[in-house]
Amino acid sequence: MLDAKIPSGSLSEKWTKYKGSVKLVNPANKRKLEIIVVGTGLAGSSAAASLGEMGYKVKAFCFQDSPRRAHSIAAQGGINAAKNYQNDGDSTYRLFYDTIKGGDYRAREANVHRLAEVSTNIIDQCVAQGVPFAREYGGLLSNRSFGGTQVQRTFYAAGQTGQQLLIGAYQALERQVALGTVQMYSRHEMVELVIIDGKARGIIARNLVTGELERHFGHAVLLCTGGYGNVFYLSTNAMGSNVTAAWKAHRKGAYFANPCFTQIHPTCIPVSGDHQSKLTLMSESLRNDGRIWVPTKQGDHRPPNEIPEDERDYYLERRYPAFGNLVPRDVASRAAKERCDAGYGVGTSKQAVYLDYAAAIQRYGKAEASKRNLGNVSPETITQLGKDVVKEKYGNLFNMYEKITGENPYEVPMRIYPAVHYTMGGLWVDYELKTSIDGLYALGEANFSDHGANRLGASALMQGLADGYFVIPYTLGNYLSDEIRTNNIPTDHPAFVEAEKHASERINKLISINGTQTVESFHKRLGKIIWDKCGMARSAEGLKQAIEEVRALKKEFWSDVRIPGTINEMNPELDKAGRVADFIELGELMCLDALERNESCGGHFREEYQTPDGEALRDDENYMYVAAWEMKDDNWQLHKEALNYEIVKPSQRSYK
Ligand SMILES: Cc1cc2nc3c(=O)[nH]c(=O)nc-3n(C[C@H](O)[C@H](O)[C@H](O)COP(=O)(O)OP(=O)(O)OC[C@H]3O[C@@H](n4cnc5c(N)ncnc54)[C@H](O)[C@@H]3O)c2cc1C
Repeated sequence: MLDAKIPSGSLSEKWTKYKGSVKLVNPANKRKLEIIVVGTGLAGSSAAASLGEMGYKVKAFCFQDSPRRAHSIAAQGGINAAKNYQNDGDSTYRLFYDTIKGGDYRAREANVHRLAEVSTNIIDQCVAQGVPFAREYGGLLSNRSFGGTQVQRTFYAAGQTGQQLLIGAYQALERQVALGTVQMYSRHEMVELVIIDGKARGIIARNLVTGELERHFGHAVLLCTGGYGNVFYLSTNAMGSNVTAAWKAHRKGAYFANPCFTQIHPTCIPVSGDHQSKLTLMSESLRNDGRIWVPTKQGDHRPPNEIPEDERDYYLERRYPAFGNLVPRDVASRAAKERCDAGYGVGTSKQAVYLDYAAAIQRYGKAEASKRNLGNVSPETITQLGKDVVKEKYGNLFNMYEKITGENPYEVPMRIYPAVHYTMGGLWVDYELKTSIDGLYALGEANFSDHGANRLGASALMQGLADGYFVIPYTLGNYLSDEIRTNNIPTDHPAFVEAEKHASERINKLISINGTQTVESFHKRLGKIIWDKCGMARSAEGLKQAIEEVRALKKEFWSDVRIPGTINEMNPELDKAGRVADFIELGELMCLDALERNESCGGHFREEYQTPDGEALRDDENYMYVAAWEMKDDNWQLHKEALNYEIVKPSQRSYK
């Protein structure tokens, strides 16, 4: 069994106790220690800025032309924190409890409690940086609800929360760049990890403009490289998001945890055809006010506005009256799939359900008329007042929907369908965020995280910033305090030479295949296999087939891929080929993990294991563990970390 090194003591005191007794590095020694931070999204920017501010020498890397372009910028809906500004019963414990329950009892209690504790610090930190969170008329920060909760604890900046938070973290990072504590390497991709005497000591990075390979030393290496949802080809992730950095670490011995735990988000714009390479999220915040429904008759072709109220099935409200449209994402996604599979889907593909704002517009309109003391108001005025309120809250999301679909969501219900959105799996880390390799840490979406088998909305930004601003500054010091006598290792050390040689040989091999099929075509085929057989529903039979298909695809890729251009130039096709090759290997591991877990939990839904009413059926006796896979000679060995619930009592999740 794996040891997560969780501190002793009562749950609510573990983190305080840890911070009070952790080893420290004095300021003079900090200046001598070098840290490599790969990734400058929210997790990486916040970590690099904090460590720079503390006095460490930091080198930060990202593959985009600026940290401002990290995938984090796409986050729309908000960030959770247990501030209880609404006085609606929120607390650190409730945020902790909701997250553990939302994750279907497959997350570590101690980590989740720490996350809930520091959530409030994040808001203070970001407000101090000037992040323009939405405010009430009186000036207090405003909140809204996300799925899986009955309180309002989500802080937001219109529909651009990630962008505003990233600007805050970016300016903190740039301040350190200007001060010289952080050296920024944009358009650089980590392609190898360097290990010396069992410890992570550096990386090989490829300059994506010149194609050159570079060696970089660090006393410790932090991977903040995001999630791997693009293994599915179609996802809401940024097009460049990939698994390569984590995969290189995995190949060098870092365990990969719960790879099959994927989040399928219920409210995305449905796939419209084969030509598509990207899916668009409609933020979960829209479920605050929007009502989800399908016609009560199968194959009803009438336009939505012609379907009378009593011929509509608000299936989430019907099945889950306590949480209604705000059930967690895994539950809402499966319910939509169930309705569509049963023939009640809408739109031309019949793979969609309605998200309707008509009732919210009327409700807000009446409240606004009353607020303004308007008597005898016409229905048109009420509707207009309501639309104005909705526009203020969700205007940019509505515009985005109209731009993509050509339909006006103020007039016609939106059509939505679940899509791949986030990956709960990732590099296994202990309580200190350290991977199974000494000196190698993983933060943000890149680690297997605090979300168990299903992440609640608005919790990823919280976790990334908690890791970067508030956790790693303590836990890394604990490791580095024993490294103060380690001098910088010159990069002509044989381990650097060997790692660079390995990276170079792989790139040369890729470009020399000179086959007939594009990188994109392989990615698309991989995505289809994984979506069909390791997506929203999985079965042992399908997973076994998928493993064979992915293995065959890997062979074909390495014998027939065609990459135009050369190595020593800017060559995005070559960059992508390396990433897709890693996705193919990950795809096999995801199916293996899903096959090994003979239960359903959260986003992992094995068709064989469900309750009579179609809910996920866990097997706590046999599967209450984190599955951490070690790669050995191109094969995998499973290690388990037992999950011990001391405070929360795992039960069948109910949102009824
Ligand atoms: C459309 C959308 C909306 C979302 N909305 C919300 C929301 O409202 N609330 C919420 O909590 N969460 C939301 N999420 C999830 C959340 O945005 C992400 O989980 C989070 O931003 C991930 O941050 P990160 O710092 O871990 O990674 P990222 O932001 O993905 O950053 C990864 C970084 O790693 C770098 N990198 C990767 N590989 C390499 C490599 N090999 N070499 C060098 N650099 C590398 C990249 O350049 C980048 O800088 C949303 C996600 C999507 C897709």
